Amino acid sequence: FVTPVKLAGGADSRPDILLLTFNDLTPLRRVEEMRADFVANASHELRTPLAALLGFIETLQGPARSDAVAREKFLGIMQAQATRMARLIDDLLSLSRIELNAHLQPSTPVDLAVIVRQVVDGLQTLARDREVEIKVATPEAPVIVLGDRDELIRALENLVENALKYGAAGKRVDITLAPGQTRAGAPEARLSVRDYGPGIAPEHLPRLTERFYRVDVADSRQQGGTGLGLALVKHVLNRHGGRLSIESTLGQGASFTMHLPLRTAESVIGG
Ligand code: ADP
Repeated sequence: FVTPVKLAGGADSRPDILLLTFNDLTPLRRVEEMRADFVANASHELRTPLAALLGFIETLQGPARSDAVAREKFLGIMQAQATRMARLIDDLLSLSRIELNAHLQPSTPVDLAVIVRQVVDGLQTLARDREVEIKVATPEAPVIVLGDRDELIRALENLVENALKYGAAGKRVDITLAPGQTRAGAPEARLSVRDYGPGIAPEHLPRLTERFYRVDVADSRQQGGTGLGLALVKHVLNRHGGRLSIESTLGQGASFTMHLPLRTAESVIGG
């Protein structure tokens, strides 16, 4: 925008200076585009199981009305599709709740070693189904971060579930908790989940935490995925002042690490 400015006391009507202001609308437009994309993606993801449900209802009302075997089979598929929709809605709600709270720093002291045990216990059935042994290495002393317990559990659960789903059946999954340092030298906790599956090609790595981004959509759907898990992990870590790092070599598996600012027990007790 160009604004002519007349300074006080000037004799003629011509402006003394021209004020040039640059309003960069690009970031705003980008946010609007992202929001529109998100709504379009979410609607599409919900429409897919809904279309299947409507199709099966129609078949049950018509051709399959008196076929008991077909009815049982279709009801099973309909239940799976409805469950998928419910999971999608749960994940969308969790994401928006985390985003709404993004400005609030979570402040409850949480021992990450306890969270690891809890998550591993909860996923033993899935691990057994996949014939995967989960190996845990945590320090003996508590590893305390200031956080939101439920969100941290949810984030770790997502990473371990992914390792079980996309890693190799019959192989190991390693969960390691260890202290480390940020690039700036501050103490941090590093919680890694490593699998020995097919891994992820490098071109996908930067996009993995985008909502609905999946390397193989059919595979993800078959595994009951929503494409929102890693977006959720990223948001949880951002809110905790941490970050997610991902390393993978094709054919050798993948490693996802949660980095969280570390509090020593003394600093928590001392405030
Ligand atoms: P989803 O609900 O599809 O699992 P996520 O956001 O958790 O969504 O993961 C996004 C995609 O990243 C997955 O669909 C999968 O393609 C890929 N991915 C995640 N974890 C792994 C892993 N451990 N090994 C290989 N690919 C993975």
